[in-house]
Amino acid sequence: MYDEIRKTDPQLYKAVKGEVLRQQNNLELVASENYASKAVLEALGSVLTNKYAEGYPGRRYYGGCEYVDIAEKLAIDRAKKLFGAEHANVQPHSGTQANIAAYLALIEPGDTVMGLNLSHGGHLSHGHPLNFSGRYFKIVTMNVHKDTELLDYDEAAKVMEKERPRLVMAGASNYSRVWDWKRLKKMADAWKAYLVTDIAHYAGLIAAGIYPSPVEYADVVTTTTHKTLRGPRGGLILSKAVYSKAIDRTNFPGNQGGPLMHAIAAKAVCFREALTPAFTDYQKQVLKNARKLARELQARGYRIVAGGTDCHLMSVDLRAKNVTGKEAEAALYKAGITVNRNTIPYDPQPPMVASGVRIGTPAVTTRGMNDRDMAAIADFFDDAVKHKNEDARLRGIAEKVKGLCARFPVYPGFEK
Ligand SMILES: *Cc1c(COP(=O)(O)O)cnc(C)c1O
Repeated sequence: MYDEIRKTDPQLYKAVKGEVLRQQNNLELVASENYASKAVLEALGSVLTNKYAEGYPGRRYYGGCEYVDIAEKLAIDRAKKLFGAEHANVQPHSGTQANIAAYLALIEPGDTVMGLNLSHGGHLSHGHPLNFSGRYFKIVTMNVHKDTELLDYDEAAKVMEKERPRLVMAGASNYSRVWDWKRLKKMADAWKAYLVTDIAHYAGLIAAGIYPSPVEYADVVTTTTHKTLRGPRGGLILSKAVYSKAIDRTNFPGNQGGPLMHAIAAKAVCFREALTPAFTDYQKQVLKNARKLARELQARGYRIVAGGTDCHLMSVDLRAKNVTGKEAEAALYKAGITVNRNTIPYDPQPPMVASGVRIGTPAVTTRGMNDRDMAAIADFFDDAVKHKNEDARLRGIAEKVKGLCARFPVYPGFEK
């Protein structure tokens, strides 16, 4: 695999090959990652990358777009079908780009936006001060309740009454329970605010019908395509028909230049895959695995934020083990397990240290692991956290992890 790169660019080949082996030999528990299918990778590596196609199918600023038009129309039609949406724009280069387009289609810089507190699971593009969102808009936050760690809708309603946001940005990067989209729509309507829901994390489960869909309630829905949806790295915007012109215009020419036609073709592949019964089965297993892993970790003395999960991810509170998120992330990586540190709600630690790690099951489930393997993963996790400063022990765990991974090949043949 990757013979041309090997021949022409040995330095880069080393990096690509190293990454192939890392993906095979490590337990990928980063909740936002997954393994795209070979068909998705093939589309990404296709000649469609050579084509400029500013504009939209049938309305391009370049000649020669008849084939890329087919690809983009397929992606649009499949996305609409998959989510039951009235309009789809498949061009955003990423989830953040999709959010920029969504904000600018509905409101003006300087307007007030309400988003989930970043240290309670929100995303950078929902109002981090260094992000465009925090610079263009006045941000007010919704929070989770200190005791239940569930979204505090009553408090959010009070914030809305006082601050009158023009747009509510719902959705999260680290919230394991169900969002009440309907209630948020009612709250937004009460103050004539728009409701945008960012389902970057939940998209795959929503597509499979095992997590509530916001599509009927939200004015605009944004998502990534590379997380639970298991497609290429990229973004997608769904909306009510009334916003279709505004969304398309703010994405191009408002916010991007030429679309990445190879990525759009890969999105078409991803959406077709997501429409199959096999994908529904996969998502059911993702959820089953997440719940099993949460229970197994709880049985080993770890607290799971909000008491468990209704999706593919969870936040593990490490304080009872006297370990920080930063320390756990480093020790686990030495043991062949990849996670990311994350703040827990009302975290006493700063974000760079954090008291928790976020873990998710999309990637391990794609490679075929099931509930039985979750107990083994919880053992490895616990062993590594307990012996975080013992490198020899961590290396030993990594060997066992590699053994487990060997039973679940990710891309057979790629390592050759
Ligand atoms: C991952 C994520 C994004 C952004 O995705 P990028 O493609 O990295 O820009 C946006 N919103 C949420 C909630 C996310 O989790």
